Amino acid sequence: MCGIVGYIGSRQAYPIIIKGLKRLEYRGYDSAGIALIDGDLKVYKKKGKVAELEEILIGKDLQGNVGIGHTRWATHGEPSDRNAHPHISNSNNLSMIHNGIIENYVQIKNELLKNGYSFSSDTDTEVLLNFIEDIKENNNSTLEEALRFALKRIVGAYCILLIDKDDPQTIIAARKGSPLVIGIGKNEHFLASDASPIIEYTKEVVYVNDYEIAIVRADELILKNLGNEKQTPFITKLDMELAAIEKSGYDHFMLKEIFEQPQTIYDCLRGRLDAEKGTITMSGIQQYAEQIINANRIIMIACGTSWHAGLVAEYIFEELCRIPVEVEYASEFRYRNPVINKGDVIIAISQSGETADTLVAIETAKEQGAIILGVLNVVGSSIARKSHAGAYTHAGPEIGVASTKAFTAQLAVLTMIALKIARAKNTIDEERYFLLCKELMEIPDKVALVLKQNDNVKALAEKYKNADDFLYLGRGYNFAVALEGALKLKEISYIHAEGYPAAEMKHGPIALVDENLPVVFVATKDSYHQKIVSNMQEIKARKGKVISIITEGDVVSPTLSDDVIILPTADEIVAPMLSVIPLQLLAYYIGIAKGYDVDKPRNLAKSVTVE
Ligand code: GLU
Repeated sequence: MCGIVGYIGSRQAYPIIIKGLKRLEYRGYDSAGIALIDGDLKVYKKKGKVAELEEILIGKDLQGNVGIGHTRWATHGEPSDRNAHPHISNSNNLSMIHNGIIENYVQIKNELLKNGYSFSSDTDTEVLLNFIEDIKENNNSTLEEALRFALKRIVGAYCILLIDKDDPQTIIAARKGSPLVIGIGKNEHFLASDASPIIEYTKEVVYVNDYEIAIVRADELILKNLGNEKQTPFITKLDMELAAIEKSGYDHFMLKEIFEQPQTIYDCLRGRLDAEKGTITMSGIQQYAEQIINANRIIMIACGTSWHAGLVAEYIFEELCRIPVEVEYASEFRYRNPVINKGDVIIAISQSGETADTLVAIETAKEQGAIILGVLNVVGSSIARKSHAGAYTHAGPEIGVASTKAFTAQLAVLTMIALKIARAKNTIDEERYFLLCKELMEIPDKVALVLKQNDNVKALAEKYKNADDFLYLGRGYNFAVALEGALKLKEISYIHAEGYPAAEMKHGPIALVDENLPVVFVATKDSYHQKIVSNMQEIKARKGKVISIITEGDVVSPTLSDDVIILPTADEIVAPMLSVIPLQLLAYYIGIAKGYDVDKPRNLAKSVTVE
């Protein structure tokens, strides 16, 4: 996590960096800081959000055409002023910001302590910075050489930006595992963790690769590998608009992104799904269609909300394509020596495409012969570059830390892939295939209808905001939606919530049920609707408060429910894209009712680039 911004050119660096940090704040908001060179090296930093840094900078000397800035998600050392980045080396000449974790920092720190170094923070970052300085001074080498040498010794993940008071014309950057984009302007360069701080200045960017070092000056960008060999920068054009990363009149990014879903799902289907002709055009998937059809199994690898999308997709792929599917937490998969057979197909699901655990998990699987397909939102992200092929979700930048529109777009993409493979494999009959294509195409309009329930959900939030716990129950395709609803509530409103398969509830969680426990049933019409109605009865019999998300025309569930949210009819395969919407809104409005910062929930950050 952590957001990184750098600027070098003829403009003032400060306004560009501070604006960029605000855009990257979703990546962490434990502290923020900035270093500028203007003859001297000036470093300002502060615990808390970027706005708090800005406040203490009023009246300060913020001149400088070169600068770096950081917004932190702490891994080593508590959130505090002293642990905030940028760090300064012992000589006071070098300053550095870092996104990642240096795993062997203790050992290096001990060596440096013996060499007389002192530390003013608890971070791994300050250790790496002084390690670079130590090498530079002991070997009388250039900063670039010292950095290269240091990077060969360290274990871990990093994106770093480094500046030297004695060489104010240069920013040196390096990455392994954490993202770095460099924007190319006219006699100026912009560096950032993602393209959002860059987009308003230039659309030409270079995505730096792992184990590359960038030597960035106003008029030149040199890329090298750790072997000191020059690499040709591969310039790509951003296809993102500035408006997409602003709030457009909504109070929060989360609400804006929830309300964008009719459009984002449509954008995801557009140009791919032709429901009338029954065609699904996905060139990346087409390229590997044979391998997917013949796969012995598909493994979905993901974390958090994306993992829930994988769980829904497991049911869809098994039903439509008759291919066994496993859904894995990336963090478990990568460390447990999993059995991977040549020809296994891995679908990596990630909004950012930078999720550290997912990235390493697919690297391991790829080495063992698996085909890697990415279902990702961020174009050109690290996972995209490591995958054989895939399909982007085209949901646009998701800034709210709790994922909403990325989830429904992931479901739309995964459903299209499943339909395409099922059709090619002949595991779906013609009538059902055309029906599902049509159902999928209707989802954006139906999501718009669900969003009309906004005020009802807001009222529910008021009613239940003081509950200490929530239970979310669902069956079949809606089981993962129940998990997702519980996750959203935990993330945004800090209320303990658990999601369960509705029937599993009898094996333990039912003991929690009393008149104070709200139980949310995700109970849209499906093949086993009667079963979940029985589960509602069981909760009602124990005086639990039943909130049910149901399909129009369901006359039984309302008689068992304290509150209902009614959704339009939809086939069970596509229903999760509807049933999750009220749960996103519920989490949002409870968070608001409790006075929390829903776009920046405590302890979280969006793009989890550390393990
Ligand atoms: N390890 C560094 C710190 O704790 C950077 C953390 C990060 O990238 O999340 O300050």
